[in-house]
Amino acid sequence: MRKPAEVWWWAALGAGAGLVGGLAWVGVNIWPLLLILALVGVLKWSGAMGQLASRTRIGAPVAPARGAVPRVRFDDVGGHEHAKQELVEALDFLKRPEAAERLGVRPLKGILFTGPPGTGKTLLAKAAANYSDAAFLSASGSEFVEMYAGVGAQRVRQLFHEARTAARQAGRGAAVVFIDEVEVMAGRRGQHTSHLEYDQTLNQLLVELDGLTPHDDVRVLVMAASNRADLLDPALTRPGRLDRQVRVDLPDRMARRQILALHAANKPLAGDVDLDALAHDTFGFSGAHLESLCNEAAILALRDGAPALSRQHFHEAVDKVLMGERMDRVVRSAERRRVAVHEGGHALAAELVRPGSVSQVTIAPRGRALGYVRQSPDDDPLLETVSELEGQIVVCLAGSEAEVLQLGERSTGAANDFEQAWAIARRMVLAGLTELGVVDEQALTKDQMFGAVQGIVRRARARVRALLEENRRELARLADTLVAEETVDGPTLRRWLATEAAG
Ligand code: ATP
Repeated sequence: MRKPAEVWWWAALGAGAGLVGGLAWVGVNIWPLLLILALVGVLKWSGAMGQLASRTRIGAPVAPARGAVPRVRFDDVGGHEHAKQELVEALDFLKRPEAAERLGVRPLKGILFTGPPGTGKTLLAKAAANYSDAAFLSASGSEFVEMYAGVGAQRVRQLFHEARTAARQAGRGAAVVFIDEVEVMAGRRGQHTSHLEYDQTLNQLLVELDGLTPHDDVRVLVMAASNRADLLDPALTRPGRLDRQVRVDLPDRMARRQILALHAANKPLAGDVDLDALAHDTFGFSGAHLESLCNEAAILALRDGAPALSRQHFHEAVDKVLMGERMDRVVRSAERRRVAVHEGGHALAAELVRPGSVSQVTIAPRGRALGYVRQSPDDDPLLETVSELEGQIVVCLAGSEAEVLQLGERSTGAANDFEQAWAIARRMVLAGLTELGVVDEQALTKDQMFGAVQGIVRRARARVRALLEENRRELARLADTLVAEETVDGPTLRRWLATEAAG
């Protein structure tokens, strides 16, 4: 809807145009009047541009001008020992510039952190600023992206200016400028529709990097983080710019243990909490997930009025972080049985293919899932073999095969499982693990890919069917128990299987 002022403006314009037309009609010289109107128009337009500029914060501070030295220390970052070591080496030039200069070390200008979200990239940058006693300013790549040419570049200049000012005001000789999601502002040049603005912003960042010298009164170090380093313009990562790349991956089991200990340190833990076991059960969690897990466990303890966080609180919190809030959805009893059979199939196949891998199977609905199996591998794998990948496909298909075996037909509940199975099989084809041998994705026809993937899935399906037929009794027992008790944990399932095998 138009504002009243705007309505008046348009009404006045219409009346003015009518008046001018009328005067011209009766033979009056309207040129001086037109000139005055044009002048008013120009003034109005420049006023609008002024407003636009203030809306787009031209010249306004980019990040809250805190600039203080962060309090996060390297000891507050769990895991990432290699990354910390590399950072400490790299930061020595900020701490001991004379020694670096004496040895002729080319000072480092920038460090790029790459890795999945929530793994501690920002935390490491803060710890690095703390270690080097440097003022710290952070901004996100998206803050530099504007439709209006020149605004992003102006903000880059502003950020570096603010970093130097903050360091001077705090009496520090160094500043760290941290840019998160740097790929948003520093993607490959010439690929955006409004490419001129993107290119100007990136160019300005390159200019700032090139302008950093060890003789500045404030030595500035740029740190950037990206989840998609492959999208970055190579000019940014070439030697002499952000040439030190530090990979920050998902934590392994030891690192998860450390991160859990850090975030549980300020919480009272009951005697039954075993952080080693929890680290084992949280395969695939990032640092941010683990922080959230400890927080959720504390909230659950508060809700229960418990004096300390117990094992049960942590278990519940793992499910909540992974799958979302528990739903009070009413599930019809036939559906409940089907979900129990489906999840029972997955759990049984997982335990048979990879003994010891199931942490828990449940039919409690959470988020969008009606039930799920939580698996934890024995160790964090770096590589996967053909048999391991085939095993994963078997587990994916086991839910729907169990439904056929026990209930006579499939349901739509397996759509997501099939997607996953298909994706794993595709990965196998592209990794050269099938009868097609070493392949090039571009050279592969759709039919070849389809045929190879379908072959893998068909063989896996036959294997699942045989596995479940052989363990028909265990499947029925597991499904019955899930219907009655909702959840079965890994050790209980393993005990049953061992008893059946002995009997
Ligand atoms: P993004 O890529 O999404 O910006 P990020 O990698 O920068 O994420 P951080 O912002 O550093 O992640 O981490 C988010 C939160 O997760 C931290 O504030 C901290 O509580 C927790 N966290 C992440 N990694 C660790 C870790 N290694 N040690 C301790 N806490 C961690």
